[in-house]
Amino acid sequence: MTTTAPSETGDATTTSASPRGTQIRLDGVTKDYGLSIPAVDRVTLSIEPGEFMTFLGPSGSGKTTTLNLIAGFETLSAGSIAFDRRDVGGLPPHRRNLGMLFQNYALFPHMTVAQNVAYPLRERRVSKSEITRRVGDVLELVQLTGRDNHYPSQLSGGQQQRVALARAIVFDPSALLLDEPLGALDRNLRAALQAEIRRIHREVGSTFVFVTHDQEEAMNLSDRIALFRDGRIEQVGTPEQLYRHPDTLFAARFLGDSNVFELDERVVGDRVGWDGRAWSVAPSTTSTAVSGESATAIVVRPEDLTIAASDADVPTGANAVSAVVRDVEFMGAYRAVTLGLGAADVTGTARLDALDARLGPGDRVVAWWSPARQRLVAA
Ligand code: ADP
Ligand code: MG
Repeated sequence: MTTTAPSETGDATTTSASPRGTQIRLDGVTKDYGLSIPAVDRVTLSIEPGEFMTFLGPSGSGKTTTLNLIAGFETLSAGSIAFDRRDVGGLPPHRRNLGMLFQNYALFPHMTVAQNVAYPLRERRVSKSEITRRVGDVLELVQLTGRDNHYPSQLSGGQQQRVALARAIVFDPSALLLDEPLGALDRNLRAALQAEIRRIHREVGSTFVFVTHDQEEAMNLSDRIALFRDGRIEQVGTPEQLYRHPDTLFAARFLGDSNVFELDERVVGDRVGWDGRAWSVAPSTTSTAVSGESATAIVVRPEDLTIAASDADVPTGANAVSAVVRDVEFMGAYRAVTLGLGAADVTGTARLDALDARLGPGDRVVAWWSPARQRLVAA
């Protein structure tokens, strides 16, 4: 295993250390088990060399099936998959040179840590001295130096998953596929291993495809996220693009909290109707994928909603709605406010400075936001 220095820009979220990984192209990828809808339905996506791509979506949305199609564990019903422009349709899993990591570590219980990690190298007939060197390097990378002779049963869950990770990358795979690898670990350990995986991705510079249903995990780790819904990709983008510019209500709700105003009047010119009000629409807040015609709701993130006394002046140009405070919850860095919004009484959320403790349940307020911070979304 050879490692490269971390990216000189130090910016892990946009670029990878070195583009040493494989490009994975999915074109119209479909898997039909004969159920009411295909498990994977015409998925087209290009995963770039060295990219950290996450498949995010609810249970049953087709993430694992797509990963298994990439790995060659399942056969395509339609479409094609290419690694570095080479079609891999005819290649069995062991000839795709991929590292795999699953939720259950799947270590060999009768082998030591070093033997487990050496296994893929022995299979590839790597020389003994080279195996010793590579196993040493990779155990250092996952911070398990000195555990070489332990058996899996002598290790904690987090340590076992590090061994499995070491085994998955020791042979320099062209890409690493990870299917909910942190799912079995408790919250603190998960956060620690997330940071480890991010660092290891930076150091090895290989293409990572990571599956999770946890939006926070996806946002923390990924260069880009492909959001799955019913076997299709709903939207692809950087975590920031998905959070700031969701195209659909599904995307807005899946990533982060949102205040959702379902529109009763479609966009007319630069106005939009909700509960008898006419709000302004900033041109930049409608995505290219959503025309004014197809927009069905306005989404405003909690941190973009300002709350003021009901008789306060709302800034010119802002969109506003009357609201009643339902609940105020102390969250440490801020207070989370639950609101009943407008006559339609939609439940919303806002954030207040942690020190601003004057508001309480029953208070009548006005909630306002800049049209530039709202997002028009499709169903
Ligand atoms: P996810 O990983 O997003 O939870 P999956 O890819 O496992 O979703 O499953 C997608 C859909 O395909 C689900 O409806 C699931 O029940 C179905 N499915 C997955 N594997 C099989 C299989 N081997 N046979 C029949 N249906 C399957
Ligand atoms: Mg799955």
